[in-house]
Amino acid sequence: MMTTNPQTGARTAATQRCIDPSCGARFELNQRIYVCSRCGGLLDVVQESATGPEQLRVLWTRRLESFESRNQSGVWRYRELLPFADDAPIVSLGEGNTPIYDAPVSAAYCGLHALTLKHQGCNPTGSFKDTGMTAAITQALILGVQTVVCASTGNTAASLAAYAARAKLQCAILVPRGQISHAKLAQSLDYGAAVLELDGNFDDAMRVIRELAEEESIYRRRRGAFRKLIQVFCRELRRLACRAPTLNV
Ligand SMILES: [Zn+2]
Repeated sequence: MMTTNPQTGARTAATQRCIDPSCGARFELNQRIYVCSRCGGLLDVVQESATGPEQLRVLWTRRLESFESRNQSGVWRYRELLPFADDAPIVSLGEGNTPIYDAPVSAAYCGLHALTLKHQGCNPTGSFKDTGMTAAITQALILGVQTVVCASTGNTAASLAAYAARAKLQCAILVPRGQISHAKLAQSLDYGAAVLELDGNFDDAMRVIRELAEEESIYRRRRGAFRKLIQVFCRELRRLACRAPTLNV
């Protein structure tokens, strides 16, 4: 269903869609599922916008001068590209405003005319995971869960723990024993997450996480949100540098 933002006039619609082309099943955005219930395939969030590129450009440029907290985020500033209502309870740590560097030496090494790098290590918890996590934890609040969980060996754990702390949600992280970065483990513990070690590998940890996420009060971060945020990142880069390629991930 198409919705209209009363303040900006921007019109968007979003659904969850199975990425398997032979299936393509669609589900309501807030349906609490992690894979396609018809074929078991991964789900993507499909966003359809009736707002023209020029209208978006004007809107986003104006927000650069705004002190509103969601306009200070390098993700939520471009919220017309995200599948959330305008009054969504946004959980943000000011992510996404990372610097962009010209890299002429690397460009020459790669045989390119120019190369531009966006330093995602400058995000709040030190990794690109924050740009997806802000959306994942916002969705967790919308779904009304009390606990968020993930299997991780580092960056995802620290990011989930930080955003869960900001949202006042409980956070549990499952890690394969001895296979997590000590720095990231310390970061997760500092943010108050319960870190549980498991005898096994990452796939074993994921299997347990999938079982946990069957519980109504628990939400697990999933892949679709990350994919969507990569698209946002690409669009931001294109807006700033006007020369980044379109990436399919
Ligand atoms: Zn399917």
